[in-house]
Amino acid sequence: MPNVSVERIERDLFELSRFGFNETNKGVYRQSFTEADMAARRWLMELFEKEGLTPRMDGAGNVIGRYGSMDKPVVMAGSHIDSVPAGGIFDGALGVISGLECVRTIRDNNIQLDYPIEIVGTSEEEGRFGGMLGSQALTGNITLAWLENAKDENGIFLKDAMADHGLDYHGVMHAYHDRNKLKAFLELHVEQGPVLEAEKKTIGVVDGISGVFKWIVRLIGKADHAGTAPMNMRSDAFLGLADFAHQIQRIIDEEGTEKSRITIGHVELKPGFPHTVPGEVDFTIVGRDLDEDVMKGLANACRRVLSTIARKHRLMFEYEEMSWLEPKYCSSNIVNMIEQKTKSRDYSYIRMPSGAGHDCQFFTEITETGLIFVPSVGGVSHAPDEWTHWIDIERGSNVLLDCLIDLATD
Ligand SMILES: [Zn+2]
Repeated sequence: MPNVSVERIERDLFELSRFGFNETNKGVYRQSFTEADMAARRWLMELFEKEGLTPRMDGAGNVIGRYGSMDKPVVMAGSHIDSVPAGGIFDGALGVISGLECVRTIRDNNIQLDYPIEIVGTSEEEGRFGGMLGSQALTGNITLAWLENAKDENGIFLKDAMADHGLDYHGVMHAYHDRNKLKAFLELHVEQGPVLEAEKKTIGVVDGISGVFKWIVRLIGKADHAGTAPMNMRSDAFLGLADFAHQIQRIIDEEGTEKSRITIGHVELKPGFPHTVPGEVDFTIVGRDLDEDVMKGLANACRRVLSTIARKHRLMFEYEEMSWLEPKYCSSNIVNMIEQKTKSRDYSYIRMPSGAGHDCQFFTEITETGLIFVPSVGGVSHAPDEWTHWIDIERGSNVLLDCLIDLATD
């Protein structure tokens, strides 16, 4: 069995991490369409070229290296090379560099392929402009109207950020990868959570990506003087929230699965003064599960419980559903293949869902798609001390290699 060279992966990951690296806090600042991000894209194009892949940058800023000239559907592998502010060196970058290393290993071992392989470093996965631009463009999940309106937190328009680097946003619509010319899509990614480490497993064979709903909830009571309003005559919005927070575990026990998550991530008390009974609380609920019916059960239970609590505390209850993203499933052929390849290398593994979104979720709609996880030390990600042990990187990359060879040969 051929093996990847983890030394080459390490070398390239560190070299890539220099783009946007902050010496003070050791974080990577490679947000999409910044100077650092674009310099990294040019570096990747050169590296592809040097290693015998034919590089191109599409209209969305995706960098793609093609190996093999046969006119047949492509086996694609990759991930993103943009980062969050103060990100780590593995998130996204691993999927691109390990993909490249797989191609190098195929080349060095003279393995003959029947289908071409393309390695992609996608653009703007971390959502600076509120989406996953690169993979949405590749899979045809984008509209011109959205492109024209998308802006970041500082009010900078996507189209202007692109224009700063000589990219015309109309070009995004040309990045679409004809689905008939796509055989499969594979992504190797760090887990970004604590499960693999806790379970002492090397490989996460991902079944799918959890669906997500986001609500904005408002409980309205009455703002009163904190000294003069008797405890039994208040309509305290915060007490309603506190009661609900206590019910979350029960909602999951009754309606959810071990894959369910419910989070209150943002809370705003009004008026928010120490000496005033809070007359209103606005907060978010984000719920996730891998099964859409379970998501509906969770959402219904949240609504029921909030109504009951509102009555108890004399509050008005309103909510708005801001988004509902359905779960995405990896194809069973590829999931089984990843499992088989992992077993035949004698690596430990578990089947698991992905709680976070990834590039591959858009590919599930148009081609056979698989996602491989390797452990994150301490579950840490999106932070400078994000780490994955090199032995796990080597093993995850070997699984990716075996799958790529299988998919790219008849
Ligand atoms: Zn990522």
